[in-house]
Amino acid sequence: MHPIVNHLVQLQELTLVRAEQKASGKDCDLAQLDASIQILTGQLADDVRLTVGKLIKRDPMFVVPVSNSVCAGCGMHLPTSLVQVVRQGHQVTSCPTCTRILFHPESPLRHTQKPTSRVGPRKIGIQRFSDVSLMIPRLEAVERDEAIREMAMKLQETGFVDMADRLTEDAIRRETIVSTAVEHGLAFPHVRSVDGGGLTLALGMSHKGVKFGQPRKLTRLIFFMVIPTAASAFYLKLIAGLATTFMAEEAREKLMAETAADGMWKTLCKLTRPSIP
Ligand SMILES: [Zn+2]
Repeated sequence: MHPIVNHLVQLQELTLVRAEQKASGKDCDLAQLDASIQILTGQLADDVRLTVGKLIKRDPMFVVPVSNSVCAGCGMHLPTSLVQVVRQGHQVTSCPTCTRILFHPESPLRHTQKPTSRVGPRKIGIQRFSDVSLMIPRLEAVERDEAIREMAMKLQETGFVDMADRLTEDAIRRETIVSTAVEHGLAFPHVRSVDGGGLTLALGMSHKGVKFGQPRKLTRLIFFMVIPTAASAFYLKLIAGLATTFMAEEAREKLMAETAADGMWKTLCKLTRPSIP
């Protein structure tokens, strides 16, 4: 990868982490991220900084992978010659359609979307991103990494993704930047930049609580998200909607009172109706 592009990928990572923190209602811990973002931005040449500034205003995903000769940002097919230039990594290359900066991913994490039934009513709200088979009423794990593994395994068993190991590894790596655990026993672990598929959410509950990175506090509701690059920044709205709903004690109590996946799913759909349209 071109060193400038590599630099931009890191800058984008921190910018997204910052946006995730804000979406989940965690306004603390931002100072350190801000400082790192400022350093990385300051190291850019003037023209690159100007380009990034313009792109970032439009969408926080300003540097995107090329997947099967398609720009993951806008979905347009790229000429073979351009794909080759991106792969060589000798220069900074932009998508001719959306102008996002392109890179060639080393080994993309692929999403195997479960075929969804075409019959039945149109899906709305949270139903577009999750399913009753992704509800875990009683997590066995008591530590963060095991909880992430347990949920990644669930996503694999139900056919929503393969490579549960890689998913686990990537989600843990994200947690090490800044924990996704927030107040009220909530956590939003996730893996971004998955190749293909749709935004997918699994939900795990723990009555005994999981040590998830909140000092002296245990996490009880874990929302695990697999986010394709093409879903872009929409997942931030999903995090914000879930955080808003479950900040309320009443909502948490209603969900935690469910003991089976079926009831948990129905309650999740009902409770998130106002926050996730
Ligand atoms: Zn594009």
